[in-house]
Amino acid sequence: MPERPYVIDELISAKTIAARIEDLSREIAEEFAGTDKLIVVGLLRGSFVFIADLVRELDLPIEVDFLEASSYGDGMESSREVRILKDLRGAIEGRDVLVVEDIVDTGYTLKHVSGLLRARKPARMKTIALLNKQVRREVDFNADWVGFEIPDEFVVGYGIDFAQRNRDLPYIGTVRFT
Ligand code: 5GP
Ligand code: MG
Repeated sequence: MPERPYVIDELISAKTIAARIEDLSREIAEEFAGTDKLIVVGLLRGSFVFIADLVRELDLPIEVDFLEASSYGDGMESSREVRILKDLRGAIEGRDVLVVEDIVDTGYTLKHVSGLLRARKPARMKTIALLNKQVRREVDFNADWVGFEIPDEFVVGYGIDFAQRNRDLPYIGTVRFT
């Protein structure tokens, strides 16, 4: 539970997110057209709302799996040391893989996770992040698709938490301490 009082200012509305996901799904379906071996991998926990909306828009036969990597803990700053807390249930060798992340910030998490998954020899692997904080990047990594570029601010909602709260907000907002 957060320790200081704060309010949330809306940054990206639920409507805007839904419209962007329609466009992204079309691009992804084009990229993976004809495949019958796509596994959509959600990074827990922040991507759970995004992946749910994304797969329901995707006009492709898919499987879903999840992986959990540590990063922020309950704080507001990346630890830069990425550990796998929960691995995939299934093998991905020879499969098409789409990794779904909530936010790329320093870049450590997705760079580490995609390196790890690539070593398992998928036929093809792509990454998508709902949000990108380009100015915060510390390692050379860019997702293949990005929903929205956002400024260097701490965001919550649409699956993304502040000390485990606010994941249930239908929109993305910034945290402002009062
Ligand atoms: P990176 O390893 O790229 O620095 O961090 C990526 C992870 O940090 C994301 O998966 C996300 O969980 C977390 N993160 C980055 N920015 C924010 C933010 O503004 N709010 C929250 N709640 N988590 C963030
Ligand atoms: Mg995360």
